[in-house]
Amino acid sequence: MSPLTRRTLIAGGIASAGVTALSSGTATAAAYPFTLGVASGEPAPDGFVLWTRLAPSPLNADGLGGMSAADVPVEWQVADDERFARVVRSGSVTTTRAWAHSAHVEVTGLQPGRDYFYRFRAQGFISPTGRAVTAPAPGTSPALTMLFTSCSHYEAGYFTAYRRMAEEHPHLVLHLGDYIYEGAASTTNVRKHAPAVEISGLADYRVRHAQYKTDPDLQAAHAIAPWLPVWDDHEVENNYANLVRNDGSPAGDFRARRAAAYKAYYEHMPLRSAQIPVAENMRLYRRVRWGGLATFHMLDTRQYRDDQACGDGTKVCPEADDPSRTLTGAAQEAWLLDGMRQRLGTWDFLGQQVFFAQRLASADGAKSMDSWDGYSANRDRLQRGWDAAGLRNTVVLTGDVHRSWASNLMNNYKTQDRIVGTELVTTSVTSGGDGNATENGLSDLNPHVKFYKNLRGYVRTVTTPTQVAVDFRFVDRVTTRDYPVKTLQSYVIEAGNPGLQAP
Ligand code: FE
Ligand code: CA
Repeated sequence: MSPLTRRTLIAGGIASAGVTALSSGTATAAAYPFTLGVASGEPAPDGFVLWTRLAPSPLNADGLGGMSAADVPVEWQVADDERFARVVRSGSVTTTRAWAHSAHVEVTGLQPGRDYFYRFRAQGFISPTGRAVTAPAPGTSPALTMLFTSCSHYEAGYFTAYRRMAEEHPHLVLHLGDYIYEGAASTTNVRKHAPAVEISGLADYRVRHAQYKTDPDLQAAHAIAPWLPVWDDHEVENNYANLVRNDGSPAGDFRARRAAAYKAYYEHMPLRSAQIPVAENMRLYRRVRWGGLATFHMLDTRQYRDDQACGDGTKVCPEADDPSRTLTGAAQEAWLLDGMRQRLGTWDFLGQQVFFAQRLASADGAKSMDSWDGYSANRDRLQRGWDAAGLRNTVVLTGDVHRSWASNLMNNYKTQDRIVGTELVTTSVTSGGDGNATENGLSDLNPHVKFYKNLRGYVRTVTTPTQVAVDFRFVDRVTTRDYPVKTLQSYVIEAGNPGLQAP
């Protein structure tokens, strides 16, 4: 079957499956429970995680999705083919009210570097079919098509970019944070948040995640390929830092709020048991290897950071350069450099949240206190660490800023001495609404920053042992449905030669 035909089949099947539930023939009083779709994640050479959550009434205010208190078994199947003629793994997991009847299955025993298809059955219903992909065998380096995006505000527009991502049939998808937004419903946007208030308790976070997951375009993006998600701030609260809240609203204990937000995040993502949160703590930073080709170091720059310097915002702030300040926390910093120094693959991708390169906002040195510029010593230690280890293939992947950017990472930003890596910043799926294709955010203050675009979309990368081919992909509008996607800028990053090159 040609890739195009198969792509069409899968995308079409996913689009319709949520509407026309297939009964397995078992008489049941239950309503269709797979309203949130299916997902896979965390690919390994021998398996991946499968996810779904039973929620026949996903927006019920109690956050329980219309499920009773009873435990419910969920059967799962993994097959070689999308008709499930050759089922290669199957089993059953018990879903519980304590975890919002979410199912997380860590499948093992599969072949490396292969496509598989999966589905669930529960309460007499069969789920939509998803495609998952195993990582290639250790030491092998087949070409990898990876897409990454961030900042998917449900109210700000339609998730057309997610639909277009699904149509690309990637091997892997990275979401770099702001998967949901915590704010109250607005009266001016194209869609309305549920619940209508700013979310702060577990029921609220569950309803908000469920609302996002009901979107058919998002369901398609999850069902087409395994994801590696990491959160940024809005999965809890705008610009929070560790246990320091951003503002006083809503009132209440922020530790409890973070615990609720992290728990709901885990319940709605295809993550491994190593990520199960304990109270307000959740180990989200982790490494995923893609054969001998690449290592994905997925970072968490929210949970362990020092508070933003000088009261946050964009400003001149000498305290931002205090060597004691940390964005990653000491443990994650050591873990990252240790992992990079092991040279596990040709390319080191740092999947993370906030702008990494220096970006001066004005000639007096004003810069963003929420990004790595507010923690510059932490950035310098990382850059010097990988540079001293002789690593030439570091690519930092970033979200957060609702614009696309591309930069060379400099050993010294002031003197523009030596390129030591490359940063690709994805724009948002929707956040910021329709953009402005002619806006120019480049400045002579930042000569290492080469590209800027204010439109919505994602980044496509095709990685081989010799290069990363980069395409910045955009849709013209998100407040109207169904725009096509187009490439407006391409680069090549050559192995052994850090920085952006013309393709
Ligand atoms: Fe955002
Ligand atoms: Ca953010």
